[in-house]
Amino acid sequence: MKNSQNPFKNAQNQIDRAAKYSDCDSEIIKVLKEPQKVLEVNIPIEMDNGKVQIFKGFRAQHNNYRGPYKGGIRFHPDVNVDEVKALATWMTFKCATVNIPFGGSKGGVIVDSSKLSEHELKHLTQGYIDKIFEFIGPDTDIPAPDVYTNPQIMAWIMDEYSHISRIHSPGVVTGKPLENEGSLGRGTATAQGAAYVLYEYLKTKTREPKNTTVAIQGFGNAGANLTDILFHKGFKIIAVSDSRGAIVNKEGLDPHEISAHKNKKGSVKGLSGSKSIPAEKILELDVDILVPAALENVITKSNANKIKASCVLEVANGPTTPEADDMLTKKKIDVLPDILSNAGGVTVSYFEWVQNRSRYYWTEEEVGQKLLEKMTKAFLDIHNFMANKKITYRQSAYALAIDRIGKAVKSRGILN
Ligand code: NAD
Repeated sequence: MKNSQNPFKNAQNQIDRAAKYSDCDSEIIKVLKEPQKVLEVNIPIEMDNGKVQIFKGFRAQHNNYRGPYKGGIRFHPDVNVDEVKALATWMTFKCATVNIPFGGSKGGVIVDSSKLSEHELKHLTQGYIDKIFEFIGPDTDIPAPDVYTNPQIMAWIMDEYSHISRIHSPGVVTGKPLENEGSLGRGTATAQGAAYVLYEYLKTKTREPKNTTVAIQGFGNAGANLTDILFHKGFKIIAVSDSRGAIVNKEGLDPHEISAHKNKKGSVKGLSGSKSIPAEKILELDVDILVPAALENVITKSNANKIKASCVLEVANGPTTPEADDMLTKKKIDVLPDILSNAGGVTVSYFEWVQNRSRYYWTEEEVGQKLLEKMTKAFLDIHNFMANKKITYRQSAYALAIDRIGKAVKSRGILN
């Protein structure tokens, strides 16, 4: 699925393309295009068979002018420094888009975690935190889950950090299990936030969820929860996919059946009543809404012209390359950009951090209501600015974020 596109160059390119629509000084734009720090670590782990294996990891801290760095940790065999730098950059812009007081960072470890035992995975997590310990903290840099990391791994991170610092530190990481001071609503927050963005977008088109067809690439935390939320709202889910393949049913798929099948067989493939197609073909189906919710660089110049959806809801980070973005714009396909569409996760991470710092916990309704307000306001700001300037949703989201970050850089006197 991944191609040779450099995601960090794509992220820099997106900043350049939007900068002219912002009021930000061009000297400050230079600051926004580079990460402040990038750390590379080697983590030795004694494997269950007694042999030592070295795993390489990274933590990139892009920008902290608006608040502590914030960004998830990815465990994936394709992790590389440019990917981590790109993801850190997008985090800065995402936090500014939903106007929460964080900057941006990201971490990653090159590993196929499905090949590790639970014991090895725990040691790898502890080893990574040991190596980046001085970089992170509740007021400096706060990790969270990303691809192939989960609440259990976040609990190990909190435990390791608290163990080394000798201070109980729930605020050092978000996306924790509820029993370890996680927040209600965090597990479904990314999907719920994306759904709120989609509802607001459809209102601008005076279109109802009913009979709106959807294809979702990726059936993990974000994709599976979104399938469930949209299904219950009345959308027709025509297709879903995971790393092993895609399934289609024009009459609509039931998320409960897909999940039960995936739990049993390890993949969505082979669900009875559905037709299997090659994984990447999901992007080219004749649906109203296409949702890439797996990895970056999946919509490229080689398939953008084949996309038939009228709207792409970017739940994955960086799923569309800049050339493909231009091609979609020419085809009048609306792209609801990642820094808006998937910002529900970091928004509820922020709520979790606030609850950890105040040591007072909110109800699920309070979390849901606050998320709805944040996502709706962010969408409407971007939509109105876009309509006013006659630009794309992505340019609008970046321009508004650039203004917010740029003002924070300028007023702190960095360039004075
Ligand atoms: P996850 O690990 O829970 O799930 C990833 C899914 O992608 C899995 O179903 C996997 O099978 C699938 N996948 C992998 N390769 C694929 C391929 N070639 N074709 C189709 N599917 C493939 O990860 P997640 O947390 O759901 O994250 C998915 C995307 O959403 C990532 O880009 C991530 O950065 C982004 N995101 C996630 C969150 C969050 O809170 N989980 C927040 C913001 C952004």
